[in-house]
Parts: sequence; structure tokens; C-alpha cells
Amino acid sequence: MRLDFKGKYLGCLIGSALGDAIGELAFRFPDRNRLESAVKQAKILHYTDDTAMALGLAESLAERGLLDQEHLGRIFHRNFFNEPWRGYAAGPPTVFKAVQGTGISFVEAARRLFGGTGSFGNGAAMRVAPLGLFFHDSPNLYEQAAASAAVTHAHPLGRDGAAVQALAVAQALKLDPEKPFPLEDFLKDLLAGARTQEMREKLQILRDLLVSAVPAGEAARTLGRSVAVHESLPFALFAFLSHPRAYPDCLWCAVLNGGDRDTLGAMAGAVSGAYLGLAAIPPEWQEKLENREVIERAALALLKRTAP
Ligand SMILES: [Mg+2]
Repeated sequence: MRLDFKGKYLGCLIGSALGDAIGELAFRFPDRNRLESAVKQAKILHYTDDTAMALGLAESLAERGLLDQEHLGRIFHRNFFNEPWRGYAAGPPTVFKAVQGTGISFVEAARRLFGGTGSFGNGAAMRVAPLGLFFHDSPNLYEQAAASAAVTHAHPLGRDGAAVQALAVAQALKLDPEKPFPLEDFLKDLLAGARTQEMREKLQILRDLLVSAVPAGEAARTLGRSVAVHESLPFALFAFLSHPRAYPDCLWCAVLNGGDRDTLGAMAGAVSGAYLGLAAIPPEWQEKLENREVIERAALALLKRTAP
């Protein structure tokens, strides 16, 4: 069967943006009933920095036709300048300021963060979905994802997290949602892809938690709830892998168990959307998504550049 790449590209970016927006709401409405009614009552579902940066990455990839770190950095900087209120963490603006003030490259400025270790926050993984789509068939997916991360997240763990999330998106994209979900193979590929000890250990724990069907709250406690990428991405993957067949269930799980809710929603939503496609995302949510047309255009521009 031919996969519906158009539906999957759209599902990935719209799914991620909705995860971001609904996850952000979940900070104020942290239980299922209140969150569902908040989503129902909202006129517009507003996304945050996660989606703003994903759109920047999508734009850069579509425009350049490859990953160009300095071009990407300039687009991130421009988008931050235009909308500084999107909820950015301290890292990216510090990088932008250093580049502007001293003329060093984005990669060098990112390397100087945190006393020279670079960031291992989840900020590179949260935005990497467009790259997972763009390079889904490339043997250099890891390197490309790591290079996109290095524009703001230089630490090996920050780059590894972005690469594992890109791999998850690429794998999900290439799977047929009509067939049973191949959990073991999916996890095996992620484990083979991860290059840091921290991420590999977490993926092993993730596997154990899924096999023993541990409740979501306990999984979140075990995997971590911080903004460090190895303490947030594994739970986003848990949310998807424990609910591969239903986008809404995946999303509720991702954003209703504490931690960095908007980013958990963005990461889980991207993988779920890439697997199930746009049709699996409730239309009444899609209609309310802020700048939905912009996000759709970004997905279609990537599709034009890359799909078979
Ligand atoms: Mg955010």
C-alpha cells in the first residue's frame, strides 16, 4: 500500500503544534475534564516557542534544500525578534545576542552556553520534527538532526535527544498505520540510533515500562519531568508508544502527567501525527489552531522538496 505522505507530513506538523498549544493550556488546567473543556471553550489554540522554532527549521530546510546552520540561526533569530513573547527559554536568546554582539557563529555562541558545556535542554528536540520529515530517507539523519540542534544546543546530549526525536518522526512516517504497530522494532531502531549513555539507558527503561504496562504517572516519575532532554523526550515517547492508535489519547497522556507540558505535547504530537496522519487529529482542534494555514504551507513545502 502507498502511504499517504501528504496526510502524514500535515499530521506531523499540525499534531506537534496542537500538542504544544494544548500542552501549554494544561499548565493551567492540569486534569482531563478541565483541560478538555478549556480546549472546547478556547477560540484559538495558541502555540509557543516549540512551534515557532519548528516553523523556522521547516522554512530554512525548504528554502535552502539542505541544513544550513547559519541560515537556520538567522531565521530563529528573526522569528524570536518578531515574537519574543512565545515563551522561549533563556538559551536561544542568549545565543542570538552573542551572535549579534560579537559576530561569532551561532554554533560557537551555543557552545559557550552554561560555562562552555552547551545546553542539554529539550529545545532542539522539541522543534526537530520538520527535519525528521525532510531527511526521513537519508542515512545522515542523525548528523543532520545533531547539526540542527547545535545552532542552540551544543551539548552531546542535547544533540542526541534531537536526533532520537528526528528518528522517531522518520520511523513513524514510514510506517503503515493500517498495520499493527511494531513496538519492538520501533524501540530497537531508537536504541540503535541513540549515541549517549544517558539516552540509551532511558530508552531501555522506557522499553521495560511499556512491556510491564506501567501507569503513565509512574512512568513519568521514573523517566523524569525536567526540561533536560533525557528527562522529557523519553516520556513523550512513552505517551505515543502506549497510545499509538489514537492521537487524542497520546496527547492527553503527554500533557497530563506533569513536567514540561507544552514540549511533551509537541514531541509526542509530532510522532503520533507522522504515524497516523492528519485525519486522526480531531477537526475541531485543527480549526482552532493558531496560524494553521502557515503550518500547513510549511508541511506542504517540505513535502514538495522531499517526498517520494
Ligand atoms: Mg514552549
